[in-house]
Amino acid sequence: MTFDYDDRNIFARILRGEIPNSTVFENDHALAFKDIAPQAPVHVLVIPKGPYVSLDHFAAAASADEQVGFFQAVAEVCRISGVDEGFRAIANTRSHGVQDVPHFHLHILGGTRLGRMLPA
Ligand code: 5GP
Repeated sequence: MTFDYDDRNIFARILRGEIPNSTVFENDHALAFKDIAPQAPVHVLVIPKGPYVSLDHFAAAASADEQVGFFQAVAEVCRISGVDEGFRAIANTRSHGVQDVPHFHLHILGGTRLGRMLPA
């Protein structure tokens, strides 16, 4: 599997400051911001600052510092968002996963009881 990153995607533009976002948390390796079309009361996207197209690309190729920084951002988003009663983390990936934006992003959804993960 090879991964080709195209920096014309919308999240790359957000990282370059070309498009505004509603930032929830930021560190050296990750940015977290509110989804523009929220699917739950809490809907935050956590993205690495590096050029990774997908979760499997990030897991295979990102440095240890990038991976730790990313998951520290996930922890901060969960703390800030107050999802103590639970949440769902989703990484839609490529065509079968119906990924629209080809820059790795983890959806953090919560703030209410979510339905089943997939339709029965
Ligand atoms: P995917 O289907 O790739 O997993 O999800 C992409 C997500 O990005 C969608 O939930 C969509 O609402 C969100 N999104 C797309 N464009 C923008 C944008 O310009 N700003 C923000 N904050 N979210 C966006």
